[in-house]
Amino acid sequence: MPLYENQNLKIYNSLTGEKEIFKPLTAGYVGLYVCGPTVYNKVHLGNCRTFISFDLVFRYLKHLGYKVRYVRNITDAGHLEDDAETGEDRIAKKARLEKLEPMEIVQKYTIDFHTILQKFNNLPPSIEPTATGHIVEQIEIIKEIIDNGLAYEANGSVYFDVLKYHENNHYGILSKRKLEDMIANTRELTAQSDKRNPQDFALWKKAEPQHIMRWPSPWGVGFPGWHLECTVMSTKYLGEEFDIHGGGMDLKFPHHECEIAQGKAASGKDPVNYWMHANMLTLNGQKMAKSTGNNILPSDLFSGENDQLSKAYSPSVARFFMLQANYRSILDFSDEALTAAEKGFQRLMEAIATLPNLKTQKETDGLKVEKWREECYNAMNDDFNSPVLIAKLFDAVKFINAVKAEKAAVSTEDLEILKATMHAFVFDVLGLETVAAVDKNDKNTERLKEVLDLLVALRKSARDNKDFATSDKIRDELAALGITLKDGKEGTTYTL
Ligand code: AMP
Ligand code: ZN
Repeated sequence: MPLYENQNLKIYNSLTGEKEIFKPLTAGYVGLYVCGPTVYNKVHLGNCRTFISFDLVFRYLKHLGYKVRYVRNITDAGHLEDDAETGEDRIAKKARLEKLEPMEIVQKYTIDFHTILQKFNNLPPSIEPTATGHIVEQIEIIKEIIDNGLAYEANGSVYFDVLKYHENNHYGILSKRKLEDMIANTRELTAQSDKRNPQDFALWKKAEPQHIMRWPSPWGVGFPGWHLECTVMSTKYLGEEFDIHGGGMDLKFPHHECEIAQGKAASGKDPVNYWMHANMLTLNGQKMAKSTGNNILPSDLFSGENDQLSKAYSPSVARFFMLQANYRSILDFSDEALTAAEKGFQRLMEAIATLPNLKTQKETDGLKVEKWREECYNAMNDDFNSPVLIAKLFDAVKFINAVKAEKAAVSTEDLEILKATMHAFVFDVLGLETVAAVDKNDKNTERLKEVLDLLVALRKSARDNKDFATSDKIRDELAALGITLKDGKEGTTYTL
C-alpha cells in the first residue's frame, strides 16, 4: 500500500487562504507546475530558495508514493523589463549587451541554472518546456480566447479584456485585489496605448522593428505575452485542470492572477486546485533581486569570495539553512545564520554517521521511536513544515548521542526504524548530502589529501602559465564540494 494512503497531507492553498487536505484529481497521480526562471542572467540565492522549496514538495510527494509529473518551464521569450509590459525583452536586451544571439544567452544561462540546481541536489523536473518551443500553442489559445469574446486585437497586438472577463468571473480571486481598487489606482491610458483599459494585459505583442525575437501570427509579426506561456505549457502537459501550481510569492500578481483568467477564458475551467507560493529570501532585510544588485550568487557562496561572507559554504549547508525556515516565511540571509546552520548540519551528519555503530539493548529507553517517526510525518503533512521536521530530527540526534554515551538505550528493532526514518527524511525528503562528515584519521582521508595536493599543484602551474580559467575552475569546483582553498604567504592551504 503506498504511504499516501495512511498520511493526511495538508497544503496551504493561497487561493482559499486555508490548509486543505490534499486530494489529487486522479488517485495516486499528481500534476505539479512551477514557474521556471527567465534565463537572461545568473540565478541568485533567492531564486534558488524558491526552487529548493518546490524540490522539497516534489520529493515529499514522491516519498509518499505519488507518481508526480513535475513541469517547470524555461522562460526564453516574452518577459519584458517590467510588469507594466513596457521596455525590451529581457533576453533580447542581454543579447544586445553581451553581443550574442538571444539563443546563446538562453543556452548560457539555462546551463548555469541547471548546474547550480544540481549542486543544491535539486531533482530535475519531469518536463522542462520552453516558451519558444510553444509559440504555435500560444497562438492557438489566443484564438480561442478571442472566439470566446474575452480578448481583442488592436494594431497588431492582442489584449485580454479584463473588465469583460470580470463580468462573469472574478479577476483578483488569487491576489485578493479588488478590480475597482485597481482601476482607481491606475493611471489613465496614454493616447498611444492600444488597450481598452489599463488593466488589460497582452496575450500577443506586435514586434517593433528593433525587436529581434519575433514570430509570424494571424495578427502580424510579434511575440507572446509572458503570462500566456505558463497557461499553455501547464495545460498542454497537465490538462486544463491540474493539481498544484507553484511559484515565488512575487509572481502571485499579476502573473498567476492572469494565468487563472487565461485558463478560465479559454476552457471555462479553473485551471489549478492548489496554489502554492514560496516566500522570499532577503539580504539585509531587502528582497534578493537581480535588478537591484541586492543578491548573492551561489558561486560566491561556494567560494566564500564576497564581502558579506567570512568563508565558503557547501551547497548542502545552504540548502539546510533554507529548509530550516518554513517555505511560507520570509528568510533573511546572513553569514552568521549560515555559520549556525553549518554547525547544526554537521551535528546532524555526525549523528547519522554514528548510527551503524550503535550497540543495541533489549529495550529502548529515552525516545519513543514509533511515535517520533509519526511526528516526523505529521510535520511534513502539515504543509511541508520542514523546520518542525528538522526539530524532530534533532530529537533523534540527542537520543543517538545519548545512546552512544550509554545514557540511553535502543532496541534492534527501534534502531532499524531510526536508521530508515533518518535516512528517508534527511537524504530523500530534505535532499541533503553528506559533505563535511570526514574522519580526519581515516585512510580515505589520507588518499583524499594526496589528490587535493595534486590539484593544488596543478592549479599553481595553471596560474604560473596565466591559465586563470583552469585555476579558477579548480578552486570553484572544490568549493562546491565544500573544500575551500585559501591562498596565503605560505602557499595554498585547504580545510576539509
Ligand atoms: P525570475 O527568473 O526572475 O522569473 O525568478 C525565478 C523564480 O525565483 C520566481 O519563482 C521568483 O518568484 C523567484 N524569486 C525571485 N527573487 C526571489 C527571492 N528573493 N527569494 C525567493 N524567490 C525569489
Ligand atoms: Zn509562470
